Amino acid sequence: MIKAIIFDFDGVIHDTFEFHRSKLKAFTGNDISEKNYKDIHDGNFYDSKCDVLLDTDWAGYITFIHPEQSTMKITDEIRQVLIELNQKYELFIISSGSAKNISDYLGNNGISNIFTEVLGFENHRSKINKFKMLFDTHGLCHDNCIFITDTLGDILEANKVGVETVAVDFGFHSRERLEKGNPYRIISRFSELGPIVDAGF
Ligand SMILES: [Mg+2]
Repeated sequence: MIKAIIFDFDGVIHDTFEFHRSKLKAFTGNDISEKNYKDIHDGNFYDSKCDVLLDTDWAGYITFIHPEQSTMKITDEIRQVLIELNQKYELFIISSGSAKNISDYLGNNGISNIFTEVLGFENHRSKINKFKMLFDTHGLCHDNCIFITDTLGDILEANKVGVETVAVDFGFHSRERLEKGNPYRIISRFSELGPIVDAGF
């Protein structure tokens, strides 16, 4: 029985693909092509060997984007589905981005109360470790939670801890690329999520 839904943030709750590409260009002075930025997400973001990002001051980048990221407006559809899911399930976020920025985003969109915890860059760079942190502190394990993400790299990290993934094909990666990680399901609309989680494994 599923107790908790763990969400990725970028590309799932908010479409930030072009936002990050333009902000990374402004912050680092380097242009990161669409292809390059997609490829970086085939594995753990911080393990990527992308030359132009190797020396990036990520703590500085997070502060740089905070004013704009934290005030982005969530879509009505996603906000409504999240509120409905929270009536039955505990909700969490595990992100490679900043937990502070995401928490402030949730607050500004009036939904910080529906998430039990947000883990981000400040907690650990590995999502595998962030899953383990949630397991240790919230009585969760691989078979009572489900992960929602938009990238192959995230699916592979969830696979390593045995967590099933519902992938969304409206984020950073295409359906073909997501299929390489063998996710439990792939969906094209956020509203398809509720019935899948309700059905359980
Ligand atoms: Mg993502």
